[in-house]
Amino acid sequence: MKKLIPALAAGAMLSFSAIANENPDFPYKVDRFADIEVLRYEVPGFNDLTTRQKAMIYYLSEAAQMGRDIIWDQNCAYNLPIRRMLEAVYTNYKGDRNSQDWKNFETYMKQVWFANGIHHHYSTDKFTPAFPRTFLETQVAALPDCCKPADSAELIEVIFNPEIAAKRVCQDSSSDVVAGSAGNLYAPGITQAEVEAYYAAIKDPNDPTPISYGLNARMDRNADGTLREDHYQLNGLYGPAIAKIIYYLSKAREYAENDAQKSYISTLIDYYITGDLRLFDEYSIAWAEDTASQVDFVNGFIESYGDPLGMTASWESYVNFKNLDSSRRTETISSNAQWFESNSPVDPRFRKPNVKGVSAKAINAAMLGGDAFPSTAIGINLPNANWIRAAHGSKSVTIENITEAYAMASIGNGFNEEFVIDSPTSELMDKYLYITDMLHTDLHECLGHASGQLLPGVDQDALKEHGSTLEEARADLFALYYLADPKLLELGILDNPDAYKAEYYKYMLNGLMTQLNRIELGNDVEEAHMRNRQLIAKWVLEHGKKGKVVELVKRGGKTYVKINDYKKLRDLFGQLLAEVQRIKSEGDYAAGEKLVNTYGVKIDRKLHKEVLDRFATLDIPPYRGFINPLYTPVYDAKGEITDVKISWPEDYVQQMQRLSRDYSTLTPACCKAQKSCAPNSCK
Ligand code: ZN
Repeated sequence: MKKLIPALAAGAMLSFSAIANENPDFPYKVDRFADIEVLRYEVPGFNDLTTRQKAMIYYLSEAAQMGRDIIWDQNCAYNLPIRRMLEAVYTNYKGDRNSQDWKNFETYMKQVWFANGIHHHYSTDKFTPAFPRTFLETQVAALPDCCKPADSAELIEVIFNPEIAAKRVCQDSSSDVVAGSAGNLYAPGITQAEVEAYYAAIKDPNDPTPISYGLNARMDRNADGTLREDHYQLNGLYGPAIAKIIYYLSKAREYAENDAQKSYISTLIDYYITGDLRLFDEYSIAWAEDTASQVDFVNGFIESYGDPLGMTASWESYVNFKNLDSSRRTETISSNAQWFESNSPVDPRFRKPNVKGVSAKAINAAMLGGDAFPSTAIGINLPNANWIRAAHGSKSVTIENITEAYAMASIGNGFNEEFVIDSPTSELMDKYLYITDMLHTDLHECLGHASGQLLPGVDQDALKEHGSTLEEARADLFALYYLADPKLLELGILDNPDAYKAEYYKYMLNGLMTQLNRIELGNDVEEAHMRNRQLIAKWVLEHGKKGKVVELVKRGGKTYVKINDYKKLRDLFGQLLAEVQRIKSEGDYAAGEKLVNTYGVKIDRKLHKEVLDRFATLDIPPYRGFINPLYTPVYDAKGEITDVKISWPEDYVQQMQRLSRDYSTLTPACCKAQKSCAPNSCK
């Protein structure tokens, strides 16, 4: 549960000159549909890597793409057959491409690709196609036989019947969140109570080094009605995909930068073979402790946002390498980690007496895969197991080139003019938001998630369905509190004592207003990061009411966030941090639930409508994601890699079609066995 997704991927407010590796000629923007904008990202520094490093990145990138089908199937059992059917229609369509039905179908296809399935990647609501059911039925009926799914009627019913698989991740704590979720992590018919009873029976509360229960398993039912875990492993679930991942990991291992890296790649492979979560812990420890390698990667079942109970992880991969210049900033922060921990405003009992090896670096992403693609994080802090973090430390990264791509694509989109209260605030944001945003990510990942400790005997899953929201709140509050600390000036990281105000203003504006652009009118806030941001912003708004610390004011009929006292705002962040840390350290579920439900969930409908209307005049997409660059190895006569070329030749549709053609590890490409089918008819 340790990733940071962009608070305001859509926001503008980033000054051109503040961006380190800007290249105004790079074609960042790729596609725009529904509520999505697709971008490309540059990979600064790739060409300066050694041939060995490039070769390693190439093989790790192949491993990253081989897992694509896993996340599709995890997201919903219908996703892969539906994707195959939709892609067959997309390629075989012979009708009018200017018709409204076709355009709506194409938008739906692009949405499904972007979400790795039929549910929105963020809201997790099932998409509602804008084309009629008869359009799809007609197109499917016209497909060549080899492309026609036997169960097409059922698949079409799933797409169009709003009652079926309505929501991927149900967060409504007043209902059964397992039974109410359409994700494929639990077999149909299994209830939340059954799952909780299952794990309560096998968890040992006194085990100081517990495995991450359920992390790599789908839960199913035995013939006698009892539950069992089906593990994701070579000879288990997702075996064919895992076999390919193992193959490319073992190729990458040949180019490892040192013996330690070679060794933990072997452990990761052993874990993929056996599904043994103790091996995963062993791998995670060695991976966290490797700070020497420049090329690095995440590949596995890592984050559990897709599980309403926060246990089973989604498959994802990041291939990356260290940005040596920017890492000086993060290294300064991490080498002072104990100072930040010891001076934090939380009860000393909940502080870590010895912060263990928090390593931090700024990286450039080279390849995004699985759940990290096309929508991705801008920061990561792993491993997730609390005992590993306490005993061995964690690795925290800020993804620099992705943050830059967001910033570059946002220039001049009118956001500041519409939402920021006055020009001095706007100018401060232009000047300092890029660096304070990046610093917020550094502090959130490197110090925030790594801070604090549980009291002895407290279960790390005690906050259950509110655990993700409260964990994100803890990390955000830690970052917000310290962004305003004179320590950052003393360390030479910031050069202006007012710089933090840029991030404070953005945070309050986003939490109180602008993030609502991502939500449909009438809905509540559901996603954990969004709940966290609203929780923090509304809590300080209310608790600072008396002193008018922050206000919502009206000007010319429009609502604006007005911050009157930045110092008191910082104090309030500190107070809330102390309370959220207490809730986490004591495992106080009731207090956590109250906090989330009071501040994080409900929306003022009038304000919501105003925000949507104001955004509508700007055409700023609520969500963004990326396509990956292409890596092409160059071989010598002996078959050795002598170089790897990077290029960006594709648009969004071309990349999605290529991935489905070349990386369908769990769905047979439908034409392979059918000679009668035209070679390209099903691709
Ligand atoms: Zn986080």
